[in-house]
Amino acid sequence: MSENTNPNTGPVLMEELASLTREDVVDFLIAKVKVHTCPCCAENNWQIFSGPDVTYGLIGLQKSGMMTDYPYVIPSVGSLCNICGYIRSHNAFAVLNWKKHKAEEK
Ligand SMILES: [Zn+2]
Repeated sequence: MSENTNPNTGPVLMEELASLTREDVVDFLIAKVKVHTCPCCAENNWQIFSGPDVTYGLIGLQKSGMMTDYPYVIPSVGSLCNICGYIRSHNAFAVLNWKKHKAEEK
């Protein structure tokens, strides 16, 4: 993984994010999301973003630089509605924190 220069995430946190698995993301969505139908087409037919070398895809949401002097990227896990193409995302740190708490409860 290339060096992360985002002061809000840092290399250690990015390493932790890399430990997330597709199963973690799916478990998080099942546990925390109450509405599974698409807000646009009302169907329930999603796929998790993934790629050839990752089991799920992190999306970097680029925040406007108007408030800061540096680009600010929010690492997010994305899912795509297979019917209408609507894209939703959840902050990857929310998934990571949920995973940590779940592990502590065991
Ligand atoms: Zn949809």
